[in-house]
Amino acid sequence: MDSRVSEDADGNRALVYDLSNIQRGVRDCPHCGHTMERLSSRLSVRTNEGYLLDSGDNEAEAIAYHALGVAGLAMSTLYRHTLLPLISKLSGELHTRRLERTLKSHPESLICRNCNHVIRRK
Ligand SMILES: [Zn+2]
Repeated sequence: MDSRVSEDADGNRALVYDLSNIQRGVRDCPHCGHTMERLSSRLSVRTNEGYLLDSGDNEAEAIAYHALGVAGLAMSTLYRHTLLPLISKLSGELHTRRLERTLKSHPESLICRNCNHVIRRK
């Protein structure tokens, strides 16, 4: 199953086995061609999805300050340090929860390591 036919320079065809990929039924992503992994193994690793690093860029705050004064600075600071990380964390958690639901109804589902494309399988 995990083999592909490849052609070398001389035109000879040979079966290439992907030995790093010996899980049953694992295949390549139809979108980007990267190796997919089982959704169950993805979700067994807890990730901080949605975690956002502060860019340290103060430009937005400076612009807000000049445009709106202290109130603008306060709003900009609130947005960047409270709302933005919150929204980002929430959407990451929603994404994970959706994947967990998919896994429950389709235990053999695969997910792409590169583009997160999901193939549902029972
Ligand atoms: Zn992909």
